[in-house]
Amino acid sequence: MQTISEVRLELPHDEMQIKFRPDESIVFASSSGHCNLDCSYCVASPVVKLQPSLSYEDLMFMAQRIGGKVFFIFSGRGDFFAGYRKSDRLLQRLLEHEHIAVALDVNGVVIHCFPELSDEQLKRVRHVNLTFHYQQLKSHKALQVWRDNALRMLHRHDNPDFFVNFILSPGEAPIWREALQWYQTEVHAHYPKALILINDVLAGFSAEQEALLQALTQDFAPILHSVRRGNFESVLKSFDHVSCAAGRTYFRVWNNGDIDACPNVSELRLIGNAKSRQFALRADDFACADVRHCDCYHIASAGRMTFYKRSASDPGPPHPSRTIAIHPAR
Ligand code: SF4
Ligand code: SF4
Repeated sequence: MQTISEVRLELPHDEMQIKFRPDESIVFASSSGHCNLDCSYCVASPVVKLQPSLSYEDLMFMAQRIGGKVFFIFSGRGDFFAGYRKSDRLLQRLLEHEHIAVALDVNGVVIHCFPELSDEQLKRVRHVNLTFHYQQLKSHKALQVWRDNALRMLHRHDNPDFFVNFILSPGEAPIWREALQWYQTEVHAHYPKALILINDVLAGFSAEQEALLQALTQDFAPILHSVRRGNFESVLKSFDHVSCAAGRTYFRVWNNGDIDACPNVSELRLIGNAKSRQFALRADDFACADVRHCDCYHIASAGRMTFYKRSASDPGPPHPSRTIAIHPAR
């Protein structure tokens, strides 16, 4: 006989884990339709340019429809600040609301109203990923602008949930050393913020590049925080299915307004559009067998999933894209 039991998941340590709070809804917002850089390793290919972005009104429509506290994680295809004009004061206006908090994933070329945020507003900026795209900054002659912006952001809001990252892309290995030297002299000498080196998720390293990385981690140890090689898929896929809060307290919204309960499951896509002011939340948790995506990891780390595993006598896991009818634990 087949039995399904609830099991406990221990996620591996992740120094960059976003700290979610139990009483808030989570909205991953790919709000920007524009990026001012063209990184070779960008996961959005081609890089998004001059597309529509979400406005203050679009985001507030979502927040009001969801109700309660809302945590917007601004991360996605474009650069958050590049998606709007400084005069829009989008970030400042959102953070005027006590029930709204944000996480920012930015390239630092423009930071608009960030330096003018009040102390109260800054408390609601709960997580920052500032990425140092050296090759692109150099070719766009934006290194000094980035340096000034990075130092302004750090002086204003450095904390344990503020990360400065450098992507280790194999195609840019010839400039890794030059990039770290520049950061050491131009930023770290003025503000001692250590860098996190992040493996390009799209490409593996050659033996030569692994050796170079080893050498760099020794030579630049004082300015480095860690090397991140996140692969959470292997942890999550050991489960047969989960009960997930997608569509109830977790959502993803895109720059054209489309709202998904979860973008990875076809039947959970397009539950609304923020620009046309349509949005129907789900009433129940979703039983999902396709637990291997980046969002799954975040939702699991937020404690919004219950994990289930079949007994040893069971014939095997279901087809990966199949969902299973179970009554989720509440
Ligand atoms: S800054 Fe980010 S969004 Fe823009 S091109 Fe680079 S990786 Fe892509
Ligand atoms: S388990 Fe992962 S893929 Fe499935 S609905 Fe939840 S977030 Fe989406």
